[in-house]
Amino acid sequence: MRRRSPIIAVLAVLGALLPASVRGEVPDFQTLTGRVIDLELSGRRYLSGVEVESVQQDGKGGLTELKLKRTEEPTVVAASQIMEILVNAEPWDVAYVADRKLLAHSPEERTARLAYESETAGRLAKSKKKLWPRLTAAAVAKAMEEHHEHIAEVKKLFPKLNFKTYESPYFLVCSDLPEADVRKMLKALDSLYDELCEGFRIPTGKNIWYGKCIIHAFAAKESFLAWEEHYYKAGQTKAGGRAHWNYGTGRVIVSVYESKQFTNFVGLLTHETTHGFLHRYLSSAEIPKWLNEGVSDWAAESVVAAYDGPRKKQLQAVDYCRQNKTIPNGFFGEDIELGWRYGMGTNLAKFLSARDKDKYREFAVGIKEGYSPEESLQRSFGLSYADLLAAYGKKIGVSELKLAAP
Ligand SMILES: [Zn+2]
Repeated sequence: MRRRSPIIAVLAVLGALLPASVRGEVPDFQTLTGRVIDLELSGRRYLSGVEVESVQQDGKGGLTELKLKRTEEPTVVAASQIMEILVNAEPWDVAYVADRKLLAHSPEERTARLAYESETAGRLAKSKKKLWPRLTAAAVAKAMEEHHEHIAEVKKLFPKLNFKTYESPYFLVCSDLPEADVRKMLKALDSLYDELCEGFRIPTGKNIWYGKCIIHAFAAKESFLAWEEHYYKAGQTKAGGRAHWNYGTGRVIVSVYESKQFTNFVGLLTHETTHGFLHRYLSSAEIPKWLNEGVSDWAAESVVAAYDGPRKKQLQAVDYCRQNKTIPNGFFGEDIELGWRYGMGTNLAKFLSARDKDKYREFAVGIKEGYSPEESLQRSFGLSYADLLAAYGKKIGVSELKLAAP
């Protein structure tokens, strides 16, 4: 009898621990029966954590239909509707074979996906950024446990405040505000989430957060500042709300206090939450400040129609361009303060989106894939920052709008 060398035996054990996609195994659809899986369906729909009741097959290993154990529709999913099957957060790389009317594993899709992921991860690693891992149900449960522990700690820190916890599918709110206010906030946050998913073509029903996005909404400014001081040494902040994220886990916490005007408060909350979303989308790569602020203001005004702060800043930006014909040199870098510069960011984002929505998305996604912002602008629109300013200037009647000399 031949004996395997110890090294090969160890490699075999390690191999068995790797996900099927890495091992290059062909998934067996029959093993799905009784398992809890994620399904991406046509029409940008996503079913998270659904149990498979039975699997219909064609006799040659292809899948023709899945029956799901759930009360909501759909309970039966035809092969033609399935875009992807994920087991333990690992894609099975399936494709619909139209002439045979069945779903099969596609080695080509797997190869292409793995190549994309390794190339993107490599590019991101150069700036110490990473693709966010797909979270298993166990990882999500662990994240939620951590979130609840954190909230319990905050409740202990502020024993005099009467915090209550509220949840929607994507948000976990800890607040001492009246419940009616929190419900309105949650409604705005849920709309924001849908809107941002639509913008990035993320299927409806897919959760991008590390567990959920935590929101601390304080009734009093002093409580907000005390919380900021305790967790982020930022008790001196002039901001009405802040978004905090963790580069390791990707946890996002938004803290905010209720200003006198409820509309402005919800507007600011959605603005800050957009920063959190942009952090969590795809990778930890950062969207540059001008675009990040511009998009966050744009998202906030879309969700909270009466929030007019962003619109004022956009008008100020147009005035600034018309009067000065140049933009401060650091605009595309970190040198972007509040006021018209946020409006300028929104104006440029809207300008690009109006020019070509798909290319605009490509531009943003490219940055999250690790390309520098200007490289991504060049790849998607074929424009440099100088070209962008000139083209935008033309639109608002300023010939040769450009950056000021450094
Ligand atoms: Zn902001």
